[in-house]
Amino acid sequence: MFRKKIVSDDSKSDAKTNHKLSGLENLSSIFRGNSNDFQNELIIEDSPLESISLPDTDLQKSTSNRAVQLIQEVQKLNDRTIKPFIDYNEGRLFYPILSKIGETQDNISCLDDLVSDGILEKRVYEKLIVCPIHPDTFSSSMRLYCPKCHSMSVEKLNLFEHKKCGYITESSNFDFSNSENSNCPSCKKSIKNFEKEIRVPAMWYQCDDCSEKFDNAVIKLHCRKHEHDFDTNSGQFVTTFSYKLKNSEISINSDTNQIKDELLKLLEGFNFAAKLNVSIKGKSGNVHDIPIYAKSKTTDESILIFIKNQPGGIDQSDMNSILVPKLDIDPTNTLLVTVSGTNDGVENLAKHYGIQLISEPDFTQILSHVEEFVSEWYSKNGGKQ
Ligand SMILES: [Zn+2]
Ligand SMILES: [Zn+2]
Ligand SMILES: [Zn+2]
Repeated sequence: MFRKKIVSDDSKSDAKTNHKLSGLENLSSIFRGNSNDFQNELIIEDSPLESISLPDTDLQKSTSNRAVQLIQEVQKLNDRTIKPFIDYNEGRLFYPILSKIGETQDNISCLDDLVSDGILEKRVYEKLIVCPIHPDTFSSSMRLYCPKCHSMSVEKLNLFEHKKCGYITESSNFDFSNSENSNCPSCKKSIKNFEKEIRVPAMWYQCDDCSEKFDNAVIKLHCRKHEHDFDTNSGQFVTTFSYKLKNSEISINSDTNQIKDELLKLLEGFNFAAKLNVSIKGKSGNVHDIPIYAKSKTTDESILIFIKNQPGGIDQSDMNSILVPKLDIDPTNTLLVTVSGTNDGVENLAKHYGIQLISEPDFTQILSHVEEFVSEWYSKNGGKQ
């Protein structure tokens, strides 16, 4: 990195008081790849310190990027799904992932906002049965009672059968306390593998207090916090939700917008006037839409940067779509940056037409490559730009 960045210490306390993702208003436009906000607007960076750095620290600071950061976190998850966690003691429902972007873990509204933006999909995760009198208390457990005397001292009994000798007895007659050395009470042979050697032909309950044997115990739910039972049928449902990232298209778009912003700052750091999503008239008089166009503030030099991501890799037709504006506008340098791979022949084509191809798996590496390139160019000119 060519400059150091100052990260303010208040980012953490900021995050605690911020209950909404501040950048959400802009999200729909960002994720539709529609960055009209920036169009034809020359963004001049006042402070040279407010520039490029590794995304980790940078993103944490920038509240407007929290949603993007959240999406990047979701991409690391199994099934790209945010699942709820429940604190049964406190009766709290929360999403730990939110703390990674500096939000409070129970700030569900910021997830719901991403649902309205079409980025996340809300799905039923589970239905919790809660106490009908204290529905805010999530903690309920199942209790078994003797149907005759209502005692809770109910034991579960099994019959075990030693497959080898056919001996059947109550499970309590088998001693499995020493897993290395268990023996059949009948044939005395050692039992090494319970799963394979023992069959469980029957199961029932017995009450320790009244000795009643029964197949079905009375099942009640117990409200743990307020210590009372309730009937399973009287319980209320609390629905919890998981949030699934809708599709990978979104993540690619979000990355692209992220890269664009960072590249813009980088160029400005090298004394370029840089624009995002700008229309440039070429020598032919035709107008071309360019993702990033930057012009040196002191020389005539200019640069075009194209950003393309293709799941199947960059191919020749992608290159052709860049060649037309490149040849017509004829900038000093042209870059194509991508997180996708490149197909056969693309590198040669790029070399032939003087297009710098930067293909890296993640955008931090892309940024540092672009920085290398621009910095070398800058020093060739003796820092005159
Ligand atoms: Zn209760
Ligand atoms: Zn009983
Ligand atoms: Zn036996």
